[in-house]
Amino acid sequence: MICKCGSELPGGFYVCASCGESLAYALAEVDSVVEVLDAGVARTSLTAGYGERVSSSGSLHAPLPIDEGVFDARHALHTWLMRKGLLLAEVSGPLTSRTSQGLASYMIRNLDAMRRQDWAPGLEAELRGLLKKATQACQAPGERVSVGNCGAIVADVECTNPLTPLKDQDEIRCKVCGTTWDVKARQRDAIGASWNAVGPPPLIIKALAQYGIHVRMSSFKNWVKLGHLQPVDGEGRKEYRVNEVWAVAKRMKERRKPA
Ligand SMILES: [Zn+2]
Ligand SMILES: [Zn+2]
Repeated sequence: MICKCGSELPGGFYVCASCGESLAYALAEVDSVVEVLDAGVARTSLTAGYGERVSSSGSLHAPLPIDEGVFDARHALHTWLMRKGLLLAEVSGPLTSRTSQGLASYMIRNLDAMRRQDWAPGLEAELRGLLKKATQACQAPGERVSVGNCGAIVADVECTNPLTPLKDQDEIRCKVCGTTWDVKARQRDAIGASWNAVGPPPLIIKALAQYGIHVRMSSFKNWVKLGHLQPVDGEGRKEYRVNEVWAVAKRMKERRKPA
């Protein structure tokens, strides 16, 4: 028997020691890749929390800008580890953990048994492919903006699927009902709907960022200092109106544009 690398295989093995070691290195990368993927997942959940809080104090709706690439990559990697882990468990005893990291450790610990399986030769290439996809999903998530829930009426029912196009996308097709929308027009409508919502500066900054409008905290403070922004009357914490912050942000952006 010959290993896929061309070297002679010891009896009963399908993967040579050196290729086995290389597979173990790929398995060892799982932990750090999963950590980055999970951070990506947590980041989108945090954004969603802020969106909802603004929404409850006004009419601004800012649903979760899920990056599907990150979720898909996370799911594909875990499914693969689980499937191979269960296969290996048939000869190496019960799994000790069902997390992605735990499954990778289990496979490293039972590397020799794995090298003896006829399904072992393709493992490293498959795993490297999944790790690469995961890394790419995290590196280039593409900034997504929110343009509210779809809202199309299909068979007398309103479609509530949140639409999250990429920042520079012109059109978006709703994955649930298939309606195609003009992103720029929806963006104007969505911001118009939040015209009178009031909130503390960090929430407004978060909410506007979901619509692709970026305001730095330092700029916000400057605008307040210069009198461009007036707090809304209220007890305790200073709150501002979304439409006013948006208007000032737009004015400042115009000014910065080279003539
Ligand atoms: Zn080999
Ligand atoms: Zn829809």
